[in-house]
Amino acid sequence: MTINRRNFLKLLGAGAGAGAAAGLPMISHAAEIMPNKARRVVVIGGGYGGTIAAKYIRMNDPTIEVVMIERNKQFISCPFSNLVIGGVLKDMSSLTISYDKLAANHGIKMVYDEVSAIDPAGKTVTVSTGSISYDRLIVSPGIDFRFEEIEGYDAVETPKVIPHAWKAGEQTLLLRKQLQAMPNGGTVVMTVPLAPYRCPPGPYERSNMIAMYLKNNKPKSKLIILDANPDVTSKGALFKKGWAKHYSEIIDYRSAKKVTQVNAKNMTVTVEGIEDIKGDVINLIPPQRAGAIAVKTGLVGPDKNWCPVNPTTFESTIHKDIHVIGDASSAGAMPKSGYSANSEAKVCAVNVVALMNGRETQELSGINTCYSYITDKEAVSVTGIYKVAEGKIIAVPNSVGVSPDLSELEGIYAESWIKNILTEMST
Ligand SMILES: Cc1cc2nc3c(=O)[nH]c(=O)nc-3n(C[C@H](O)[C@H](O)[C@H](O)COP(=O)(O)OP(=O)(O)OC[C@H]3O[C@@H](n4cnc5c(N)ncnc54)[C@H](O)[C@@H]3O)c2cc1C
Repeated sequence: MTINRRNFLKLLGAGAGAGAAAGLPMISHAAEIMPNKARRVVVIGGGYGGTIAAKYIRMNDPTIEVVMIERNKQFISCPFSNLVIGGVLKDMSSLTISYDKLAANHGIKMVYDEVSAIDPAGKTVTVSTGSISYDRLIVSPGIDFRFEEIEGYDAVETPKVIPHAWKAGEQTLLLRKQLQAMPNGGTVVMTVPLAPYRCPPGPYERSNMIAMYLKNNKPKSKLIILDANPDVTSKGALFKKGWAKHYSEIIDYRSAKKVTQVNAKNMTVTVEGIEDIKGDVINLIPPQRAGAIAVKTGLVGPDKNWCPVNPTTFESTIHKDIHVIGDASSAGAMPKSGYSANSEAKVCAVNVVALMNGRETQELSGINTCYSYITDKEAVSVTGIYKVAEGKIIAVPNSVGVSPDLSELEGIYAESWIKNILTEMST
């Protein structure tokens, strides 16, 4: 037997621990739990990107086995979760999908587990029961938070008192309950991190939903928005019009106010280390980066936050045969949205199938529309079309535009959008 790195570790007889002791990169030796006969794509993450990538690979080439690994049995959508905070939706049920139909309809093999490691050289991923090998891997883990940039933030304890509600579920419901428990005349503080972050218009839609709830139920209350950005990052004129029309007595918007510290005991946040602001309810949205598994695997670029990819295939520019889509990727001009993740997943799937069959790849034709509610009925939207030019994803000139005004029709479009996209993800 030739002594290569793998055999050397086997001879040492102890996998990762021995690797570390020998000063070598850590390699997983967990037993293969799904020996594969067919060519296989593994997808990490069953969210807006992962479900669509898994489905479209199977639709484009049913001879390729697809294994999707997701830590949760159900997926809860962030889009429309602001409406739960505002009380427009009573609970998360219409935003919750399971994977049963998707898996059955397309022959996707589901593994409900946490991926704890990826070995790009050995082409395996590690879950709690062993390892799973792949020919190509699609990573769509969404975001995690850069908690360490907020002094005083305890990653476990702080969100129990000061929710971020930037991953939908318990955090969404906690923020809703806190608003309901707050006295009339109280102050809500919400913070917006510096861009790029998941869903550029999301914080401003949230401000509308909070302000609407306060106006209707606790009209003596105030909402202070501390935005780290120099101005509203998306649909600015429309959001400001909405604030002036509906919430001028409630919303106090402050731009270029970067929160650098939090004190959950005193219920304060501190702007740039100098100005303390107290809230009865605080919704602190921390700065973000690609989901932890992408960071751990070294898929992030020099910014240490987002994963650089080939704009046509979404293959990582760092690790071969690994593709990154959705919020975790650096997709040029495409915003970090569920609709972008859906669009990226489709082009990635088509090109993964092409690469696995020795065919030519196809250029990206990307699309994104983001709706945001101003009240329970009125909404606004932004749309863009994207293509590759000189190796980068750019917006097709003059394709990016916002809705002409606040309107109830946009609200109807939005409702249709969420029903369509969640159906596409779950069937
Ligand atoms: C309040 C709010 C409102 C929004 N509104 C809109 C909107 O109106 N329109 C829109 O287009 N977008 C909206 N977005 C953005 C949208 O939610 C994201 O852009 C989208 O979810 C990104 O898709 P993704 O596949 O990258 O990540 P996700 O959809 O978050 O999916 C990631 C999945 O990976 C799983 N996962 C992660 N790591 C692992 C691991 N190690 N092992 C196993 N599983 C793992 C997670 O459990 C999760 O299910 C909103 C976001 C927020 C917060």
